[in-house]
Amino acid sequence: MALDLADPTALAASINPPTRAVIGGRSVESASGQTFATLNPATGRELAQIAECDAEDVNRAVIAARRAFESGPWGRLAPADRKRLILRFASLVEAHADELAIIETLEAGKPISDCSGLDVPDLVTTLRWHAEAADKLYDQLSPSGPGRVGMVVREPIGVVGAVLPWNYPLMMAGWKIGPILAAGNTCIVKPAEQTSMSTIRIAELAIEAGIPDGVFNVVPGFGETAGAAIGLHSDVDCVAFTGSTEVGRHFLRYSADSNLKEVLLECGGKSPVIVMADADDLDAAAIGICEGIFWNGGQNCSANSRLIVQQSVADELLERIAERSHDWVVGDPLVAETTVGAMIEEDHLDKVLGHIAAAHEAGSTCAVGGKRVRQESGGWFVEPTVFTNVDPSSRLARDEVFGPVLAVTAFDTPEEAIRLANDTDYGLAATIHTTDLRTAHLASRAIRAGTVAVNCYGEGDITTPFGGFKQSGFGGRDKSIAAHEQYTELKTIWMDLS
Ligand code: NAP
Ligand code: MG
Repeated sequence: MALDLADPTALAASINPPTRAVIGGRSVESASGQTFATLNPATGRELAQIAECDAEDVNRAVIAARRAFESGPWGRLAPADRKRLILRFASLVEAHADELAIIETLEAGKPISDCSGLDVPDLVTTLRWHAEAADKLYDQLSPSGPGRVGMVVREPIGVVGAVLPWNYPLMMAGWKIGPILAAGNTCIVKPAEQTSMSTIRIAELAIEAGIPDGVFNVVPGFGETAGAAIGLHSDVDCVAFTGSTEVGRHFLRYSADSNLKEVLLECGGKSPVIVMADADDLDAAAIGICEGIFWNGGQNCSANSRLIVQQSVADELLERIAERSHDWVVGDPLVAETTVGAMIEEDHLDKVLGHIAAAHEAGSTCAVGGKRVRQESGGWFVEPTVFTNVDPSSRLARDEVFGPVLAVTAFDTPEEAIRLANDTDYGLAATIHTTDLRTAHLASRAIRAGTVAVNCYGEGDITTPFGGFKQSGFGGRDKSIAAHEQYTELKTIWMDLS
């Protein structure tokens, strides 16, 4: 369907919601016939009924994926042919960009400007980048000497399960399926129950592109049933999970209790942004800090949710943050000017408001925002919020809020800043603002996090690995060649010809 984003609201009404599972190359109802409602977070109203998959459907998908891996054409394709199919898939995604952006906005409550300007283009880039890598990676020969040939080769790991979160549904799907498919595996994807439709739609496009039946399956449903069934299935070789640290732990248990499948975890975060007194452009820092916490309504694993600012510049920086926070417009996600959409669901709204209430109780000062807004819409919106005087031991400083709430703590010495930055169970990302090269370098090394940005908010691009230290996850990385390699097994082929 070719759409024109000039009038997203009218176009949203014309979308035919994709609601069925995709198993073995076919669009199917769940085995039980059960469905569940998916809601629009911006209105609280039902959008569609989605096929509710459980262990039976997961088992069917695993059988289809195993067959496609072992005996289907996928496993026998030359890497260059696999590349061509994934590139064709990427082009179809691009051709359907407007439709996908609208589906994503409706179901996830994300601003249309983000969905069409960032999320869908990121998916296309990711698919293309990994597709291009497929026929450019070489295996190795060991330095074993004359008469001996040690070949060290990478082979696809097999059937991979991907269990996904709701905050960047298409982006997270791309970060998994791009390298999974490019490395020659087959997969079963379980989207978060709140955001199934865009993932179902891209699986349909993959089939249209000629990706063989059973290579890319989607089983929408709940974590406790469909998600657990993937984690516990003895014929799944690897699970790639993105979501909360709490659920990540379940996947380690599932693996231990089944077939010791490989587990790759991308989990939560409580990322710090440090501003040193020598940062030369406090306005630029304020812009980056607001982006770091208000983008996607703070529902971002690498949100910079803790501002650690040197005492002598704290007041000036806070003034600028208060000013810049007005650039973040809460509104109807289908309106082009909106930059902060809805919280994903009512329970999550209540959780975020609970954190705000706890911050008041703990004696922190609410400097910006702090309230639910747009209640009349029926949706679940929270305004950009900043708390100062946040005690580093309080809930707001320690727990992942996953909302637009910044916790500000002041420090005196650089050593104290690093100590505060590392005083967390998480280690996904961090930012430091300073003009001193030495401070920038030493702090980047001292902070225990998977990505450290200097004088900007950012997490790199498709060429850089993304993942966490500590309880933000382990086992692998999304993006870059590191992602490609984690979906392969190393094999040694040894020949003694002497
Ligand atoms: P979540 O509640 O952990 O859910 C993630 C996925 O796991 C969903 O598909 C969910 O299914 C499933 N699940 C839930 N309980 C399960 C269980 N008992 N067994 C098997 N699967 C289960 O996370 P979320 O609320 O969707 O997303 C927010 C979290 O994701 C945050 O903590 C955020 O930091 C993290 N995140 C991390 C990254 C990263 O790259 N590090 C990126 C994005 C998000 P349901 O449909 O039932 O919920
Ligand atoms: Mg969930």
